[in-house]
Amino acid sequence: MKRCLSLTMLLAATTLGCARTGQNVIEDAAEAMGGAAAISAATTLVMEGTGTTYRLGQNHAPDADLPIYELHTYRKEVDLENQRWRIEQVRTGHFGTSRPVNQQPLVQAIDRDVAFDVPADGDPRRLNAQIGRDRHADLYHHPLAALKAALQGDPEATVGPVIEEEGHEVVEVTLADGLHLTLSVDAVTGLLSRIESTTHQPFFGDVVIATSFSDWEQSGELLLPQTISQTLDKYRNGDFSVSSQVNTEIQDLSAPAEVASAQAPVQQPVEVTSEELAPGVWVLGAGYNSVLIEFPSYTAVVEAARNDQTALAVIEKAREMVPDKPLQYVINTHFHSDHAGGIRAAVAEGLTVITHEIHRAFFEELVMRPRTLGPDHLTNNPKPLQIETVSGDGPYELTDGDRTIVIHRLKEDLHAAGMLMVHLPKERILVEADVFTPRPGAASPFATNFLAQVRALGLRVNRIVPVHGRVVPFSALQRVVRTIARGS
Ligand SMILES: [Zn+2]
Ligand SMILES: [Zn+2]
Repeated sequence: MKRCLSLTMLLAATTLGCARTGQNVIEDAAEAMGGAAAISAATTLVMEGTGTTYRLGQNHAPDADLPIYELHTYRKEVDLENQRWRIEQVRTGHFGTSRPVNQQPLVQAIDRDVAFDVPADGDPRRLNAQIGRDRHADLYHHPLAALKAALQGDPEATVGPVIEEEGHEVVEVTLADGLHLTLSVDAVTGLLSRIESTTHQPFFGDVVIATSFSDWEQSGELLLPQTISQTLDKYRNGDFSVSSQVNTEIQDLSAPAEVASAQAPVQQPVEVTSEELAPGVWVLGAGYNSVLIEFPSYTAVVEAARNDQTALAVIEKAREMVPDKPLQYVINTHFHSDHAGGIRAAVAEGLTVITHEIHRAFFEELVMRPRTLGPDHLTNNPKPLQIETVSGDGPYELTDGDRTIVIHRLKEDLHAAGMLMVHLPKERILVEADVFTPRPGAASPFATNFLAQVRALGLRVNRIVPVHGRVVPFSALQRVVRTIARGS
């Protein structure tokens, strides 16, 4: 059968009944980029420029843009033959934090499935297996690497049929290592303009990583994209403006022996400590602080943070501490990934979530999201979300017999729009997240507003329980705010 070689022949070929195969699409995309021979002969790729990366799960409100890192410099060296890359960048974070990121050098690398970072002043550090899989997949989120792999003719690398989409021909490719890629070829330019793959993200579950390519420029025999934009589901994940060179000399990108021979880190069992703050009130420490509150007929915890393992350990500890009452509620301070990462576990354990109303839709989606690539406790124990919300500026009272706690919205908080704090009026304890973390060094930029709002509400507070950090007297907050005022 006569092969259908070019997109310009597509219409005629279809009319003549000659079906285009996925392989035709790959070959044509290679041709448009400079030819299969030049692609196959490419052994290294260097991209250099600037860009923007994003802090997933840390936006001001669920629908707000993600906070950004500006990349002052960005250089990615790729060893296409040995499946290795290394990114060296210098970045500045444009968001409020008590740990400002200013002109921070960052080195990230992958050698086949061995992912590691190289700290500016320390030893290379091996990262977990999931990061290894993601960085390995990222190698193929470039037209040169994807087409080179798809053209290799490895019998295990299979190319699916052509799917016609508006303005694109789409083919599914399975590489020899099992990685699935969805390649979209622009019908007008004939260039591979988009590459997608699916992965497991710890907070969001199954996600699609999609990388788009545009502004092509000639580099030797090849046309290469100067603009590279990546999304993770609906979120922006990275935007890069680069110039590229092929087959130039690169450094040795192999993982150092001590990294390659180290075990990839795995989740360790979580130990939960407990400390009584007042009768019926405990701080539970699990790398962050939860607060367990005993009511006459049930118990509640503030925060199910981090991830499944941590939240489940905290829930287990809470039930062990007060075995004769049901653990009924989890109060969530805000929707950020480090604070809501255990919400799915809490839902699976039958807890009712109390959070601000602006988080409702986000949590409804979070508990429904598929997790085929990383099933969790909720996947295995499906339960519907039970949720109660704090409206407007609150307050919201949880009361039973002689125990009352009051949940206030922290107004005008620049860290998170729906930020909640939990006040125990009788015990004069205030639980807060992220607006005041007692630690040496730079003060939280949110502490001043936090103190002002606590005063405006007339809350009586002797002790602050930060979700991150140690329990401190209220005077510690006042001292920090005075220091900030003196410094400005
Ligand atoms: Zn936060
Ligand atoms: Zn936090």
